[in-house]
Amino acid sequence: MGPPEHWIPAAIGIGSNLDDPVAQVRRALTALAALPRTRLMLASDLYRNPPMGPADQPDYVNAVAVILTQWPAHSLLDRLQALEQAQGRVRAGGDRWGPRRIDLDILTYGHRQIDTPGLVIPHPGISARNFVLFPLLEICPHWSIPGRGEVRRLAGQIDAAGLEKIPG
Ligand code: ATP
Ligand code: CA
Ligand code: CA
Repeated sequence: MGPPEHWIPAAIGIGSNLDDPVAQVRRALTALAALPRTRLMLASDLYRNPPMGPADQPDYVNAVAVILTQWPAHSLLDRLQALEQAQGRVRAGGDRWGPRRIDLDILTYGHRQIDTPGLVIPHPGISARNFVLFPLLEICPHWSIPGRGEVRRLAGQIDAAGLEKIPG
């Protein structure tokens, strides 16, 4: 027998504002569910919200998924970036917060806190982003984010203005 399987719960932030964002987010959820050594456990509803940063771009559609995964955090990031590529994300230099077909961020990974040049966990944007916290609130209000606190408390500290649940 090999070593026991070791499953880590992780929350993934999904966003899109190009080429039918609702379809792109759904496609990403399907791709997450199909990742090897990974199970899709929960998916939030989809939310429409105005762009963060440069305002001259279409509205975003965002959702959050909870997965169980056997990948180490850095390998999981590689996998997510491969999914972004497969879904046709074009990474132009200097397009931070610019329009994109799909964005997959690791929000949390078990209880780990990681601070490396290419990977920071928990994701630094969590506590300030309503399009992350409100979907998280929907699927795991009591989840405790390392160094930040309970999702429910964090969501209570920010405004949901501009965030719209997409029906169906
Ligand atoms: P933000 O990270 O503020 O949401 P963004 O998603 O637009 O901005 P990207 O251009 O998608 O930023 O990613 C830039 C880099 O961020 C990636 O190449 C990756 O190495 C790094 N990164 C650091 N921490 C994370 C994380 N937790 N999840 C995803 N990428 C991360
Ligand atoms: Ca992002
Ligand atoms: Ca990203």
